[in-house]
Amino acid sequence: MTATAPALDKTAPAAVEVHDVHKWYGAHRVLDGIDLTVRPGEVTVILGPSGSGKSTLLRVINHLEKPEIGYVSVNGELIGVKRQGERLKELSERAILAQRSHIGFVFQNFNLFPHLTVLDNVAAAPVATGRLAKPEALRLARDLLDRVGLADKADAYPRQLSGGQQQRVAIARALALRPGIILFDEPTSALDPELVGEVLSVIKDLATSGTTLVIVTHEIGFAREVADRVVFIDAGRIVEQGPPHEVLDRPRHERTRDFLSKVL
Ligand code: ADP
Ligand code: MG
Repeated sequence: MTATAPALDKTAPAAVEVHDVHKWYGAHRVLDGIDLTVRPGEVTVILGPSGSGKSTLLRVINHLEKPEIGYVSVNGELIGVKRQGERLKELSERAILAQRSHIGFVFQNFNLFPHLTVLDNVAAAPVATGRLAKPEALRLARDLLDRVGLADKADAYPRQLSGGQQQRVAIARALALRPGIILFDEPTSALDPELVGEVLSVIKDLATSGTTLVIVTHEIGFAREVADRVVFIDAGRIVEQGPPHEVLDRPRHERTRDFLSKVL
């Protein structure tokens, strides 16, 4: 973090709290008792081998998957369930959508709407959710495109952009709902190497602006630079976590050392 980063607020409710989450498909345990707390403004980088459950964890945090055991809360609100007495009850679809709108999600493959211009891609969600009228949404979208360095691409279609530009549009689109938390699932894995830097630089800018970020990535140098905390996951469990200089430079577990020796 740079010197301009806002201090973490240790008294506010956790931005994300994952409590004893287990997720399985048939006999396959994908998440096997995950506990994770992310404080407001904190930048958490999640590392781990392919198939270790990283995407599933993000999908559970964003309501796209339901855990078999355990729960998740976002800004102190239970995700997908509410407490009644000692029982957890399912939320309505509408309540889930409202909660999800506080969380931005950036995917490996951008997932832009191919038939919409860049500007309309960014303006779509605030209009669809009734948050903003179209003219205001377009104004906001122009500001956000400017922020990710793509003001001149507003009228282009996604197919006319490079992968790095498409991913920067996807980040602007995630920002349009003004989420307090943004989840990134390997945001640079689908990019040619020369395009990785421009996307990481936009994410770095967000990291210093106080937005809570949870980032799955294999970019170790980036993790060292922006993460407040690095979490290493293997086989659905957190093997170790801590500040980057501990987990990356002095890993305590053999599995972490083995993983780092392969990606570094
Ligand atoms: P990672 O993102 O760390 O590579 P994932 O969370 O995508 O790992 O997947 C973890 C494991 O769960 C993998 O073995 C994957 O095949 C399995 N898995 C993920 N989603 C499903 C699903 N919908 N049905 C069955 N198995 C799944
Ligand atoms: Mg994944």
